[in-house]
Amino acid sequence: MPTHNRALWIKDPLAILADGAERGVVVRDGRIVELVRAGQQPATPDAVVYEASTHVVLPGLINTHHHFYQTLTRALPAAMDRELFPWLQALYPVWARLTPEALELAVTVAMSELLLSGCTTTTDHHYVFPAGLEDSVDIEVAVARRLGLRALLTRGSMNRSQRDGGLPPDSVVQDEETILADSARVVSRFHERGEDAMIQIALAPCSPFSVTTSLMRSTAALAERLDVRLHTHLAETEDENRFCEQLHGCRPLDYLEDCGWLNSRTWLAHGIHFNAGEMQRIGRAKTTISHCACSNQLLASGCCPVCDMEEAGVAIGLGVDGSASNDGSNLMQEVRAAFLLQRARYGVTRVSHRDALRWATEGSAACVGRPELGRIAVGKMADLALFKLDELRFSGHGDPLAALVLCGAYRADRVMVGGKWVVESGAIPGLDIADLIRRHSAAATAMSRMI
Ligand SMILES: [Zn+2]
Repeated sequence: MPTHNRALWIKDPLAILADGAERGVVVRDGRIVELVRAGQQPATPDAVVYEASTHVVLPGLINTHHHFYQTLTRALPAAMDRELFPWLQALYPVWARLTPEALELAVTVAMSELLLSGCTTTTDHHYVFPAGLEDSVDIEVAVARRLGLRALLTRGSMNRSQRDGGLPPDSVVQDEETILADSARVVSRFHERGEDAMIQIALAPCSPFSVTTSLMRSTAALAERLDVRLHTHLAETEDENRFCEQLHGCRPLDYLEDCGWLNSRTWLAHGIHFNAGEMQRIGRAKTTISHCACSNQLLASGCCPVCDMEEAGVAIGLGVDGSASNDGSNLMQEVRAAFLLQRARYGVTRVSHRDALRWATEGSAACVGRPELGRIAVGKMADLALFKLDELRFSGHGDPLAALVLCGAYRADRVMVGGKWVVESGAIPGLDIADLIRRHSAAATAMSRMI
């Protein structure tokens, strides 16, 4: 239903994650224009009503870390039951066979899964550029526009291959000049400025250990010149600490700082193995962290010290991470996973379901540098996720908001991005899911058959 120029009152929700909005919210021209308190009517004239009395309303969830192409290598036997470095070495030769057609299908699958789980903004970290896939970011932009999801797509990179003591094979890396030229191209072509931006671009070497020091530094300088964000993996495993000590004679955060990355432009995936002093430095720098609870558990990488980080002033968002290490793209399930993992670590008084929802919304908005997202408040963008509690798993619930996390919600009934419905009755209008699964599965089989 088009809501532009005409106000829409999302009326009388069962529950809503916002103070003073008991009777719902009014949206117009892509923004939230009014919160309606208990016992009141909207002041906005002539608002069309959407009855939400069976819905729990959340700010749209924001996914801060993913590798869409990896949906083609989920639960791959050759990579299962391995830790990060051997896992990567098993997968790189398969990923080197990625084609534009397969990537387009993988992006469609990942973005559809995200949307259906209540996600309204996602990032993607794409760093595999074998010959023939020079237009990877272009492919991702086209799918995001088709589905109506907000996206911060990163132009990833690797230029340190096995030849130079790195992990990836030579066939998936590019040289520095090519990487920087294409980074500038995709920013100038696709990056939108302003609070209503639907597509943004960030720059993202895969990790400080799969690129050269020169590329780390030149990427940071380019991001500053173009005023775009920076992203990479850091402190995911103890292996990485050892690797960094050997290669550079320092810990990963020292190296990051030396490369000009420790600042408010940067958000980092994982952030597990930092010490107390490093957390303080990250907090002071206003660098943010994407916590990937499922991935960290699956690869047995460790547990991000989320509460310690927040006490040090670090904003925490959530990320599903790539589908070869999760292996799903369901952000609502990730909220539950982060809640359980962090509660097990810190106890019942320090971690509540509201904390986990806050990480996936306000915290994630800080990671993507979009304070206009992640909250239901007047002036924020109208990005909303509406869940029903009519399944067996919710029967008998008390608190509806808590039920989403504690009973395991996994599917939104309706999702709105910038005032437009992009999921209705648990489906994406116009998307033939059965056909998508058939074509995506065939592409995955073709890629992995050769190992
Ligand atoms: Zn990752």
